[in-house]
Amino acid sequence: MKSGTELLMIPGPTTLPAEVLRALARPSIDIYQGPLHDVSIDCIAGLQELFGTREKTYIFTANGHGAWEAALCNTLSRGDLVLVLESGFFAVDWADTAKQLGLEIEILPGSWRAAVDPQALAERLAKDTDRRIRAVLTTQVDTASGVCNDIPAIRRALTDTGHDALLMVDCIASLGATEFRFDEWGIDLAVAASQKALMTPPGLAFHAVGPRARQRHQTAGLRTNYWDWTLRDRPDHYYWHSGTPPVNLLFALQAAIGLIRREGLSAVIARHDLLAEATRLAVGCWSVPGGVELNIPAAGEQANSVTLVRIPEGTVRPVVEFCQQHCGVLFGEGIGPALRGRAIRIGHMGHVGAPQLLGALGCLEMAFKVLDIPHAEGGVAAAISHFAKASQGGNVLAIDQHAQSIKKRGT
Ligand SMILES: *Cc1c(COP(=O)(O)O)cnc(C)c1O
Repeated sequence: MKSGTELLMIPGPTTLPAEVLRALARPSIDIYQGPLHDVSIDCIAGLQELFGTREKTYIFTANGHGAWEAALCNTLSRGDLVLVLESGFFAVDWADTAKQLGLEIEILPGSWRAAVDPQALAERLAKDTDRRIRAVLTTQVDTASGVCNDIPAIRRALTDTGHDALLMVDCIASLGATEFRFDEWGIDLAVAASQKALMTPPGLAFHAVGPRARQRHQTAGLRTNYWDWTLRDRPDHYYWHSGTPPVNLLFALQAAIGLIRREGLSAVIARHDLLAEATRLAVGCWSVPGGVELNIPAAGEQANSVTLVRIPEGTVRPVVEFCQQHCGVLFGEGIGPALRGRAIRIGHMGHVGAPQLLGALGCLEMAFKVLDIPHAEGGVAAAISHFAKASQGGNVLAIDQHAQSIKKRGT
């Protein structure tokens, strides 16, 4: 059964489109002047479109962990208290980075099966009468739990309690998939990375920086040469990257941004919504007590870039192995103490359309059947019905050039 192209359905790194692969293969060019300068400018502008901001964006040669560290180093000082909102593995992991830097950490406890509770946050902030909390850290999408947090509601909890802590949002697994409005929502600092919905290899980390974060930056004690925004604001292109720019990754990012512009950001987000809904309908259909089950049950709290499917303990490895060895489909396994060995992670972000998703879900249903995982049949059929209905409504089912042709036919 395993022929054709392998399907990479893990929640990052994700499938690289042909345009991005071609960009990676371009020869290196001068890093001090000439066309690379314009590539950086185009990438910075593209990131502004994706974050929904007119504020400055930055590009670091790093992965998501680098983006986390850069956020803390640019704005905070040793001993500052940071409140971390738990809704999965990643915000808590961000807190570990903070702890290593000498920051004081408090975790607002949460479930790995539900979004952050903005009311609980408001109550905690109201108790912080001497304003010790200097920053609040949260994820938009947590790829470990499959949750999508309500960022505007979290912002309101800060505003309504009149708290001046910086709001830092990890959009690593949602930028380019999920709606995000940095300026309109009043975010202080957003971090992202290249290898999830942005269809670019790992190695680039991004910031969008609001005025309040920039103000705190003036007095931050953790600033370091490499991450520092002010040093990166110097006029020479070489300094924008604190040294040699990641030339080919910039070519790749520019190509990926070009694909998103061509499809249109709102169409890209709509496509992710559609893929996620089809996935949830399939899982819902498979669900039986003691068998297959969605990790995040509440509508409105589910990510549109990744879905966590709980299956009985001891069956995760065999299911993932079956899909890989017999079908060439790669799914992720649950990570973190609450979900390791308890769930499968289906990444449906970036360069993915209905054909890839249906193929992947079909192989997963096959694995359930072969391995006798308790489930009800018909999940894939439910996903097909959803796509069929969506296509009649003129929705986008596939990626870039296909999307264009479907749209044209519809008009
Ligand atoms: C993948 C991911 C990270 C970690 O990114 P790395 O590039 O592996 O350091 C952080 N946060 C979220 C929400 C992620 O999905």
